[in-house]
Amino acid sequence: MTTLDEQFEDLYGPLAPFSDFKKGERITYRSEGQTCTGTILWVATATRIAGRDVPVQYIVECDQQSGFPDVVYLGDIVMDPNVSVGQEEPAMVKCPYCGGMHNADQVKFCPNNPSREI
Ligand SMILES: [Zn+2]
Repeated sequence: MTTLDEQFEDLYGPLAPFSDFKKGERITYRSEGQTCTGTILWVATATRIAGRDVPVQYIVECDQQSGFPDVVYLGDIVMDPNVSVGQEEPAMVKCPYCGGMHNADQVKFCPNNPSREI
């Protein structure tokens, strides 16, 4: 009888003692041109195989598809999900001066702002 952790260790190698993201954490990452979210099941420690450096691998259960877990490298992980999901536009906020919608960093420039910096 083997535990799930032992199975991951057999498949992917020992759990990394240090990593930017930890087992059980939720991440957003890119996979085959798509942005996915998922839960880290295992973090395989960096190693050398046949003379090649293999970086830390994150084994991730994808929310969007079931089946075999994704192998995700640090470079594929989207650090700030708010800027990632394919939207370039900054968040709009309701302006306290004119009641309209502005980009969050534009409110201070609203013509109705009495203390507007020019
Ligand atoms: Zn305004």
